[in-house]
Order: sequence, then C-alpha cells, then structure tokens
Amino acid sequence: MITIDGSDGEGGGQVLRNSAALSLLTGEPFTIQNIRGGRAKPGMMRQHVTSLEAACAIGGAECSGLMVGSRELTFRPGRVIPGEYSFAVGTAGSTGLVLQAILVPLMMADAPSRIMIEGGTHAMAAPPFEFLQKTLLPVLERLGPTLSITLERHGFYPRGGGRIVVDIEPSALRTIQCTQRGAFLGGKAEVLLAGIPFDIADRELTAARKVLSEWPEEAFAPALLPADCGPGNALLLEASFEHVTEVVSGFGKLGVPAERLAKTAAKRMAGYLASQAFAGPYLQDQLLLPFAMAGGGAFTTVKLSQHSRTAMALIERFTGRGFRVSDTEDGAHQIEVC
Ligand code: ATP
Repeated sequence: MITIDGSDGEGGGQVLRNSAALSLLTGEPFTIQNIRGGRAKPGMMRQHVTSLEAACAIGGAECSGLMVGSRELTFRPGRVIPGEYSFAVGTAGSTGLVLQAILVPLMMADAPSRIMIEGGTHAMAAPPFEFLQKTLLPVLERLGPTLSITLERHGFYPRGGGRIVVDIEPSALRTIQCTQRGAFLGGKAEVLLAGIPFDIADRELTAARKVLSEWPEEAFAPALLPADCGPGNALLLEASFEHVTEVVSGFGKLGVPAERLAKTAAKRMAGYLASQAFAGPYLQDQLLLPFAMAGGGAFTTVKLSQHSRTAMALIERFTGRGFRVSDTEDGAHQIEVC
C-alpha cells in the first residue's frame, strides 16, 4: 500500500488521477491524504470524483472515501476490463481530465474500448478537446495504440453538458524519441463563440494577430456555435509542425477583457514558437506516464513545470522508473525515461 500526501508538489487533482492510473497499471493499492491540499479549496470536486469512479469502473477497483469534499481516499485496483463505458461529470468539470485517469490503462489493455464522457470540453485549467485531438493523442498513437476522439457537443463553463467519445485500440507500448518537432507547417487561430456578442471574437482575433503577426490573415477565423451550448468563448491557437501540433487555449471569463485573454494566449504561443521544444508546458506533464509505461524514450520540452516534477516523483514511487532531465544545445530541455 503506497501512501501519498496529496499536498506534495503541485498538490492538485492531477496527483489523484495519476495515482489511480498508476495503481491500475501496477496493481499497487494506494491511500492518499490531503487531497488537493495545494489548492485554495482542498478536497475532491465533482470532476475528481468522476475521474476516480471511472478508474474504479474500468479497473474493477474498490475505493473508500470517494465523495465530493473528501480529503482522503483508499484505492485497491482489480483487473482492467476494456469495453464500452459512459461517465458524466455533472458539472463543467473537464472531460479530458476524467480521461487522464483511465486512458493509459486502457491503451495497454487486452481489447478495445469506447469511452463516452460528459462534462466540460472547453474550460479553464484543463485540456480542451482540440488539445486532446491534435496535440496529445497523435503523440500517444506513436507509442503504438490507435486512438480517435470525437466531439459530440461543446461544454463550456459554467453550463457543461459537452460530450466526447474516445475509441481506444490498445497495443504494447514502444519507446519513441520526440526530440525534433520538424519544420513549421502553419498556424491557425480560432475563436469558438456560443451565445456571446460576435464582436468579442473580432477583438480576440485582432489582439492575437498583433502578437502572432507572421501568421497570415486567413489563419484567424471565428467559429459560431449554436447559442444553446453557451455561453461560451474559447480562443484556440494551433501551431502545426511536422512531428507535433501545439494547441494553446484561452477561455473567456467575466471581468477579463477579450484583448487581455487573447494577448496572454498569443504570447504563450509565441514563447513556444521561439523555443525549439517538442512539447509545450501541458503536453509535458501528460507525456510522462505513457512514456514511463513504455519503459524508455525521450522528448524535448520547455521549462519544467511543477505538474511535471510532481508527476515524475509519483511515477517513480509506483514504478521505480525515473527521469533524467538535461539541457539541450538549443536552449530547450530533454526528459528521458531511465
Ligand atoms: P485542481 O483544481 O486541483 O487544479 P485539476 O484536477 O484541474 O485540479 P491539476 O492538478 O491542476 O488539476 O492538473 C491539470 C491538468 O490539466 C494537467 O495535466 C495540465 O497539463 C492540464 N492542463 C491544464 N491547462 C491546460 C491547457 N490549457 N491545455 C492542455 N492541458 C492543460
């Protein structure tokens, strides 16, 4: 039984999801205290409960302490049973983060799965659908499995109600080297707008263009969604390279001017473009678990995040497998499984 302090390192929900996934992958039970102890409102939120419910369902696991507000939990894994599953967060809590708790175990299972998840698809501090589809899953496919993801309905904060469907054809994972992103193929900026005045999209795209001035005018376009899936406002910036696509996002929030939201996102994209790194700041922590399970491999990335440091320590505790971090000649960093 591994004992985890949920306030260590980043101290957020990712500790819990990674622990559940690692437990299913290694067969090691765990108990966690101080869940989300690094957050202003500690304890499990609806989205974390759904993530753990999903892990229990696919992994025949037993779990005690699984409820909203709970700060302590014990998880005993069973056998991973691939198949068709549906999970609903019930709030705008992230569908992508529920997936984070179960994806790698299902990628390594002995039969295909189809997973439907309802909740938020475009909300702050979580991977939006386009990041999953264009950034994360293509890299995971290079490890071996065949993955596809469909957006059936958008879900914005606070309404939620989005739906994604993920098809997973598992395979043994191979080790890969993601150290070169290859040539730049093009950039795209899109504003998803639902039930919000149209000029917001114009203002965001104009502000983003000021920063990403080398991208052609036609790369900037709004996408109007039906008003009834809103209110919603998401800016998605996408940079395609030969070997990877980076999606940077920004989400509308009351009190945050459209220009500021767009400028912040565009500057983050500019920072990634100026680097030579393969993985941006969010892909970075999300690649650690699958790379570790592949038993080797390396990728280059931007500055190490606290999410990554926390995930590395946790992965090492469950698997005994560590990571070597080094500087590359072009100013990026390389993370290698060892
Ligand atoms: P908490 O409320 O505790 O912060 P959380 O469950 O939302 O909880 P974190 O521990 O902060 O979780 O983990 C967030 C995860 O979402 C990380 O894996 C991070 O890489 C990912 N993430 C956050 N923002 C983005 C984004 N804009 N694009 C892609 N991934 C993101």
